[in-house]
This record gives sequence, structure tokens and C-alpha cells, in this order.
Amino acid sequence: MTETKLNLIAGEWLAGESEIENRNPSDLSDLVGMFAQASADQLDATLDQARIAQVEWEAYGIERKYNVLMAIGTEMMSRAEELGTLLAREEGKPMAEGKGEVYRAGQFFTYYAAETLRQMGETADSVRPDIEIDVRREAVGTVAIISPWNFPTATASWKIAPALAYGNAVVWKPANMTPASAVALSEIINRQDIPKGLFSLVMGAGSTIGQRLVESPKINAISFTGSVPVGKGIAAAAIQNLTKVQMEMGSKNALAVMDDADLDLAVALALGGAFGSTGQKCTASSRLIVHETVHDAFVEKLVAGASALKVGHALEVGTQIGPVVSEQQLTENLAYVELGKSEGAELLCGGERLQLATDGYFMSPGVFAGTSNDMRINREEMFAPLAAVIKVGSYDEALHLVNDTKFGLTSGIVTTSLARATHFRRNAKTGCVMVNLPTAGTDYHVPFGGRGDSSYGPREQGRYAAEFYTTVKTAYISSGLPV
Ligand code: NDP
Repeated sequence: MTETKLNLIAGEWLAGESEIENRNPSDLSDLVGMFAQASADQLDATLDQARIAQVEWEAYGIERKYNVLMAIGTEMMSRAEELGTLLAREEGKPMAEGKGEVYRAGQFFTYYAAETLRQMGETADSVRPDIEIDVRREAVGTVAIISPWNFPTATASWKIAPALAYGNAVVWKPANMTPASAVALSEIINRQDIPKGLFSLVMGAGSTIGQRLVESPKINAISFTGSVPVGKGIAAAAIQNLTKVQMEMGSKNALAVMDDADLDLAVALALGGAFGSTGQKCTASSRLIVHETVHDAFVEKLVAGASALKVGHALEVGTQIGPVVSEQQLTENLAYVELGKSEGAELLCGGERLQLATDGYFMSPGVFAGTSNDMRINREEMFAPLAAVIKVGSYDEALHLVNDTKFGLTSGIVTTSLARATHFRRNAKTGCVMVNLPTAGTDYHVPFGGRGDSSYGPREQGRYAAEFYTTVKTAYISSGLPV
């Protein structure tokens, strides 16, 4: 009998109104666990307790908060192997990626631990005599965090760590596809010296418990990562209560390969950017915009590289691409393959469901050539191990196509020309720009976010996170003496 993992409600681990099972996408016979689904009453109760706990937490003092965040981060880093394996088992990313994600998640906590000690405000003289002004940041209150399944530990951590560091309470609804890693992180957080109910784990379906959470007048801010339609719904719910909102919603990132590029580097960047994490990342390079003079050589090397990638069980040594996360995602991916063909794109390799030794959602990485930027496969986020090559005649055309999208998270250029690299860096209309680097792969101490449909609200990560997780107070102080 599998023990059901519980929700963390008002500081207590509680059974829910129902439960779901979670299976390993590399091997559907492997039951990862059973997970409680919170009720509406439990959500309301934990929101009430969060409000009380937040006041206590804000009064803790910065060094006590530092100790809490440092302990969480240190434990995650030291358990990266174990927790990364759990993550790989439930999400399907290869073990090395799982371990790397947990270690990185720990770094978000240690980074924001340090930020608790760096909470500097500003001072100014008033325009009136004998009055001083003090500008400081205070917590917003209770933050609802809604996270996705593709980077379930890292994404949640880059939201939870700053929320706590800046003095907020957190109510976290993780993706129902990845509850095991959510419980593991919540256990670590709840073991620390924090007020009862400061941090809540509320597992359940997005459409029910998630929707109730974002509609609640008891929250002060919502940080969301996921799809555009759900993001738009959350923004609409948030505005009803004038709740602060921040959203990151994916993209259609392009890597431009110029005629002067080092082709081996370009192919390596494209393979990693397009097929790493099975293509299931918001920073994936799904559009490869290639100069005509190197197009054929690039495509030949890309197809050889993609065909050589080892698709397999996430926990098997040597696996480079794990399974797709779910049956639904796999079905959608295969539908995009058919759509691409029907739009006139040429599928050069992959794009097929694979039957391996275990029953899982395996798919071979696919490369399309002969595509144009107005095809749907080049306009919609597929979240699949699929890349589409677009041939262009000049740098100007490449830049135009890079920017011809409703999204704007990351973009990249491969070139040996400093002039082009500089021009691209300044003119690509994306939140992050990569020069001779993959479109995926960002640091934790600098801002992350995009433009257009990719992001909404203040940036995440680094010191820029303060803009979302705090509110500014301007105090005027007079000595009270006659002037
Ligand atoms: P969703 O946007 O549906 O899910 C993201 C999170 O939002 C999950 O925790 C989900 O809960 C929750 N959620 C869903 N509906 C609501 C709601 N009404 N109110 C509050 N929370 C809600 O993404 P999917 O997982 O369905 O993925 C679909 C597509 O979205 C992908 O194929 C990809 O294109 C894109 N995506 C982009 C991501 C990114 O990194 N920007 C991450 C994930 C997906 P639940 O557990 O029930 O799903």
C-alpha cells in the first residue's frame, strides 16, 4: 500500500478531499506515489493562517531569515543527487539534468539568503526644511505561487526564495504532474525555524484549487509560470481584486546562424537548445534561422547530431533525451509533426513515437527543413523535441524573422562578427539575448523574463525580484522642532 503524500495546510500535513496517482513517464508501471488534493476549505484555512504568520515572519529580523534561507539552500545542494533522481523519475528529465536543477534551486535560496542582509533603502532631503525622507521596501503580504511541471523545482524555488527573503508568506500550488518534488521541497522548508503556516503546499488541479487561489481576496500577489491561455485567465482573475501579478508564459525562441559562424559550435548550440529537456522549456530554440551559404552544411550536421541523440529512460546512464512528460503532451507533439508536414515542411528525421524496453512517452527528436516563419510550427510554442530550420539570405532578414513573433523571451546569434553580434544584442526584441550561446541556460543572480506574450509584470530573479515581492514605502520625518 503506497502512503499518500499530504498537503501542508496552516502548518499541518493534512489529507485532502481526494488523491491522485503519479506515474513515471519513462515507465508507466512505476508508481511514483499518491498525492492528496486539497479542498477549498483547506485552502481558505491556510490563507487565513498565512496572514498571521507573515506578520510574525516580517518581524523576525534579517539574520534569522538569512539562517532559514541558507539552511534550505544548503540542504537542497547537498541532496541534489537524491532529489534530482526523484525529479527525473517523476518528470522524465535525464538524471544529470534533474540533479543540476535541484542544485540550481538550492542556489536560489542561498542567493536570496544573502539578499536578506542587503535590504538597503534610500534617503533624501525633503523640499521642505528640516524634513528627511526614508524610502524602504516592505513585504507585499501573502504570495500565491503557481508553478509548471517542466522545471518544477527550479521555477518554484526562484519564486519561493525571494518571496520569503523579502518577508512574505507563500501559498504554493505546484503542477499536478510533478507533486513528488513539490512535497520534497516543502518538507525541507517546513522543517526550518519559520512561523506556523508561513509556507503552504496546496496540491490540486489548476482549474479548481488553482483558480480558487488566484481569485482569493486573501492573497496580495500571484507569481505564475505556464501557458499563455492560463496566464491570461489568471491576470483576469487578479484584476478583480487588484492583486499584483507576474507571469512567465513561454516563447518561440530563434537561434540565428550566420554565414561566418563556427558551424560545429552552431550545431552544438542548436542541438542543446532545441532538444535538451526534451524541448520542454520556455527558452528552447525551436526556430533555427540559417544563412543560405551555410544552410545545407548546417542541416546535414544537425540531422546527424539529432539522429545520434540517445532517447531513453530518464534514470538510465547515457540517456540524453528522456520521455515527454505525459500522454497528452506526446499526442500534441505528434499532431504538430503532422501539422508541419501538412504545411509543406520537410521532416528530415525523427518526430516519431518510440517503443523502448519500458512503456513510456518516448519520442525521437525531429528536424524540419524548408519551413517559413509564417507556418504554425514556427509561430506556436510546441514544447516538443522539434526544431524547424528557416533559410534566409542575409543578416537583416534573419533579424527581422527573429523578431517576427508574438513572443519575446530569448534569442541567439552564432557569428564571429563583433559588429553583427553587437547589432543583434541591441536590436533583438527579447528579454534575454545570447551571443554564441544556446538560447536556453540562464544565471540566477540577474533578471530573467521576456517581452510580448512571453512575460507580464516585473522581472523575476536577481535583485530585480524585489520589484514584485515588495512594496515601496516613503516616510517623511521631521524633528518636530520649530524651523
Ligand atoms: P498550464 O498553464 O495549464 O499549467 C501551469 C500551472 O498552472 C500548473 O500548476 C497548472 O495546474 C496551473 N493552472 C492551470 N489552470 C489554472 C487556473 N485556471 N488557475 C490557476 N492555476 C492554473 O500549462 P500545462 O501544464 O497545461 O502545459 C501546456 C502548455 O503550456 C505547454 O505545452 C507549454 O506550451 C506551456 N507551458 C509553458 C511553460 C513555461 O515554462 N513558460 C511551463 C509549462 C507549460 P495543473 O497542475 O492542474 O496543471
